[in-house]
Amino acid sequence: MAADPAMAWVGLGANQGDRVATLRAAQQALGGLPQTRTVVRSSLYSSVPVAAGGPDYVNAVVGLETSLSPAALLMRLQEIEDRHGRVRSFRNAPRTLDLDLLMYGDLLLDTPELTLPHPRAHERAFVLVPLAEVAPELAIPGRGMVRDLLACIVGQAVDRLDE
Ligand code: ADP
Ligand code: MG
Repeated sequence: MAADPAMAWVGLGANQGDRVATLRAAQQALGGLPQTRTVVRSSLYSSVPVAAGGPDYVNAVVGLETSLSPAALLMRLQEIEDRHGRVRSFRNAPRTLDLDLLMYGDLLLDTPELTLPHPRAHERAFVLVPLAEVAPELAIPGRGMVRDLLACIVGQAVDRLDE
């Protein structure tokens, strides 16, 4: 591992196919990325799709310590999505696997390819509930502490799956 690895948080979601198996495989793949190790994994949760139809999502978050750059990590996430048969049709379309880079350390970034922190992470219960399980005191840069952000959200059902 190179000097100064960063803590990166990845949000996982699937609402097509064998969603639990897909999330498990994606968790494995994330931990197997070069220059990267898994620090913490949340439980799996189910959530009702936001602004879209289709089956419920299965969601989770993973905390990674990585020496990959943000751009390299995003590319790796997209490779893992592609391996799970993701077809990019339209925003919020049902997907076999969605991997979002939620945060990369304290980095603030706004480029066409990558916005950090993820622009909608702070308002999504399916991100905040799993984050609160493993890192309630984590701050989303520019937004506030996970626990406080979650307390502001109403009406988004997110249920922990029995495993
Ligand atoms: P969503 O997850 O919001 O439904 P998509 O996964 O379809 O949207 O969007 C993927 C696009 O979003 C990619 O082209 C990617 O470059 C861009 N993007 C920007 N910021 C991020 C981020 N923090 N994490 C993942 N993708 C991002
Ligand atoms: Mg995405």
